[in-house]
Amino acid sequence: MLPIERGLEIVMSAAKAKERPDRMPAEPVALLDSLHRILREDVLSDADSPRFDKAIRDGFAVRFEDLSQVPVELVVVGESRAGAGADVVVGQGQCCEIMTGAPLPQGANAVVMVEHTDRPAPDKVLIRKTARENEGLLRRGAEARKGERILESGRKIGLADLGLLAGAGKSTVLVSKKPRVAVIATGDELVNVDEIPQAGQIRNSNTYTICAQLREAGAEPVILGIGRDNLEDLRGKIGRGLEHDLLLVSGGVSMGKYDLVEAVFAEFGIEVLFDKIAMKPGKPTVFGHRGETFVFGLPGNPISTMVAFHMFVRPLILSLLKASNTSSEILEAKLEGSAKCDPERAALVPALVRFEAGHYRIKTAPWKGSSDLVGLARANALIMIPRRAGSLEAGDTAQFLLME
Ligand code: AMP
Ligand code: MG
Repeated sequence: MLPIERGLEIVMSAAKAKERPDRMPAEPVALLDSLHRILREDVLSDADSPRFDKAIRDGFAVRFEDLSQVPVELVVVGESRAGAGADVVVGQGQCCEIMTGAPLPQGANAVVMVEHTDRPAPDKVLIRKTARENEGLLRRGAEARKGERILESGRKIGLADLGLLAGAGKSTVLVSKKPRVAVIATGDELVNVDEIPQAGQIRNSNTYTICAQLREAGAEPVILGIGRDNLEDLRGKIGRGLEHDLLLVSGGVSMGKYDLVEAVFAEFGIEVLFDKIAMKPGKPTVFGHRGETFVFGLPGNPISTMVAFHMFVRPLILSLLKASNTSSEILEAKLEGSAKCDPERAALVPALVRFEAGHYRIKTAPWKGSSDLVGLARANALIMIPRRAGSLEAGDTAQFLLME
């Protein structure tokens, strides 16, 4: 059985090997639609930021040298407001009323907050506090210089990035086109979400968790419905699925008599690069490719499918999207209770992490195995225990991935 790390290497190098400039091209989208997409251009600041020496307090623009002895009375020679500066030069003993965001008038080198002043007369102000040079203001270009790279291609566009893009005048943004991913759930026992299961039947939930994970990863799911456990039906659906960038088939990849997915993969000439991973849950994970299409057979059990997606499919999608970061962050927390690991397989244990009494603490979620979505829904993380690491005990540091 292949360790997780080796499986991931195989997936990522298969993605690299098929990389071509015209695969997963970039497309322009409206600024607001760019959130969480992968940026495909370097964004440069189109001007110094701020564009001018600017007040960051409401108060009075002064020469800090005039405030060596306070309180001191200064003559108010003008007003600089946001959107309209003051055409004055602040000389010795003078100041200029100023608002946040307004240009600093010539001669001034600090801004004193209005809270530290009194106004004995319209043209006089009493300053009660000294100031350091450049206090209360931001010099031109302090945040970024004109032409400086403020966002790098490959970045996942975050909340603050939208403001930065707006500030740089980018009303449209180049992002990676979403890969189209065919999703097939297999099983004779499955019925649709809006049907009442009869004896022995269950509702198809994998299609929904997989599609949600696809959207979260930045791909476009294409639902091909439920494939029945017979060769004809699977051939039809898998054949159609192979017309997409990626095909995900859930179920039918274990050792059962009616697990026919791998046989159909072989019929279609899909080159399988692995079909078992030393992890629990998620052992019967199949990965291969045919022509331009990547293919996964994901284990049917709802938790196994989600975990296998998180470990292998998500990084592949991010790689197709040309994201600079394709891996999930590994975090650490102190374990409460214990967590067990099978010696032959790495464990990925649904767990609940929370912040309490100054520390992140994690404990395994009460779950009844690979089909227990009730348990997984109460978890927000997966504890990772390496193969042969034995078990973790209370107080140990546990590594985990967030999965919400
Ligand atoms: P399989 O890998 O096809 O043997 O499926 C393993 C287990 O997962 C069985 O209990 C299936 O009923 C269940 N399962 C398979 N596909 C789905 C699905 N789409 N939604 C919910 N459960 C499923
Ligand atoms: Mg099945």
